[in-house]
Amino acid sequence: MPCLFSCKNDDISVPLEESVLTRINSPQPNPYKIKFDSMPDGGRYLKTYFRGSYGRTFNDKNPEHLAAAEAIGIDPIEDPASAWNLKRPVVKIETCREYYVDSLTHSLPFLVPEAADLLKEIGNRFNDSLASRGGGHYRIRVTSVLRTPESIAKLRRRNRNASSNSAHRYATTFDIGYSKFVCDSVNIPRTQADLKALLAEILADLQKNNRCYVKHERRQGCFHITTR
Ligand SMILES: [Zn+2]
Repeated sequence: MPCLFSCKNDDISVPLEESVLTRINSPQPNPYKIKFDSMPDGGRYLKTYFRGSYGRTFNDKNPEHLAAAEAIGIDPIEDPASAWNLKRPVVKIETCREYYVDSLTHSLPFLVPEAADLLKEIGNRFNDSLASRGGGHYRIRVTSVLRTPESIAKLRRRNRNASSNSAHRYATTFDIGYSKFVCDSVNIPRTQADLKALLAEILADLQKNNRCYVKHERRQGCFHITTR
């Protein structure tokens, strides 16, 4: 009986370990980077429970953000040439099911583990709430993470209010944009206003439970969030 499995095309010249290693080491494209370029116009009504004023609810002051950042964050990176003084470990955050990391031009995608967990939790709650309230495929967008002296200098050229004493230097703080959300499917369109209210609902709950400090940044169109 002839062999049903042709072995002709098997590359037996490459040792097994080597071919496995090549597969492991070759970078795989991140499927979560695929998204629509913009949100569709209009959208179906989404039930949300945030009723406060954004400016008044999310008004935690910089000294509060800084105190929390100093307590659990890294020592700020003072000199770009020297090694980071990592009194705390940091993890790299990458676009995933829970959030989309913008192309960061003025910061680096690193957070202490507590902050990375909080960011993931916010994204997860956002996805789950959307699913349980009728659907819609949107993700939150991370617009700024860890700032270094270089990135602060660059940022200041654009925005003179950029603080040199920012909680962003401690890897505890991230910004989530609210003027645009990442759209993954246009099947159930939602409005920017409703998605912002949904995000605010989640943030208000976390803030109330002492999980974070939050500032509504009108000019930058983001929520500035420091992990506690
Ligand atoms: Zn910020």
